[in-house]
Amino acid sequence: MTATIIDGKAVAQAIRNEVKAEVAQLRAKGLVPGLATVIVGKRPDSVSYVTSKRQTCEELGIASIGHELPETVSQEDLLALIRQLGEDPKVHGILVQLPLPKHINEEVILNAVPIDKDVDGFHPVNVGKLGMKGRQPLFAPCTPSGVVELLDRVGAKISGSRAVVLGRSNIVGMPAALLLLGRDATVTICHSKTRNIAEVTRQADILVAAIGKPKFVTADMVKPGAYVIDVGVNGVPVLNPDGTPAISEKTGKPKTKLVGDVDFDAVKEIAAAITPVPGGVGPMTIAMLMKNTLRGAKHAFGLL
Ligand code: NAP
Repeated sequence: MTATIIDGKAVAQAIRNEVKAEVAQLRAKGLVPGLATVIVGKRPDSVSYVTSKRQTCEELGIASIGHELPETVSQEDLLALIRQLGEDPKVHGILVQLPLPKHINEEVILNAVPIDKDVDGFHPVNVGKLGMKGRQPLFAPCTPSGVVELLDRVGAKISGSRAVVLGRSNIVGMPAALLLLGRDATVTICHSKTRNIAEVTRQADILVAAIGKPKFVTADMVKPGAYVIDVGVNGVPVLNPDGTPAISEKTGKPKTKLVGDVDFDAVKEIAAAITPVPGGVGPMTIAMLMKNTLRGAKHAFGLL
């Protein structure tokens, strides 16, 4: 069997188109969804993520309200800003780019985001509802929601399946497991202390890898016909044919490339469907953030 390669870019674009069309309908009625993004300091990766989020807002007609705070900002001043955005009727989602500097307590800040503007889905009340039977949070975290959206769009049957999630982080593994459980999968979570991981993963109809270990999931760990979603993003050195590190002529530095947590080339030969890295789950995160922002706006406008 050769797997269907799940095109995350195309699915993300389809979602963005859907959001754009709905935003246009709202705007025609004078209703403008707005996303506030807050970044503290100038970490290059954080700046790049926030810039993409702001650009995507503009592309889709969502108002982007940007706040850049210096690395030295006090926790009180950051809290005051979050509270002000919480009360601003033009703001329907608040995104605080993580990580925050060490002197700021991330938990205190995330708890201050009102649950009906928590488009990242990280507020403990929203996470708690995700884990409760019969409760629906207004927002679920974006990357795990993207995982489930990809499974749905590729036709995976989640209900009744055996799902295994590798990783139990607050932002990916745990919420992904809760979302799959909420869709009636039988879910097992593996982490760094799990023994005999391969025995567990071989039972998975749906396997989600989110551990940050390059090519950890090998073909012998995968059940033939499984749906494999690779969340991992790992930079690894590019090697020359003789095994030495390849050096970039431009920069003089070792070349790197991105790989996932799954040995894609081997696993694609036995899986039913698999996401590539890059171009799988990655593009879904911002698309789901835009979907959540639209949802927050519709909630505020009384349209949900
Ligand atoms: P994280 O916070 O570092 O968590 C890693 C998880 O993997 C932990 O639960 C850890 O177990 C588990 N783990 C580590 N080594 C393991 C091993 N050898 N066997 C089994 N489990 C192991 O990472 P994260 O933030 O969830 O991110 C995971 C990966 O997804 C990273 O590569 C990250 O770059 C990527 N990511 C991608 C996106 C995107 O595409 N949009 C978004 C977020 C993250 P313990 O709990 O026992 O320590």
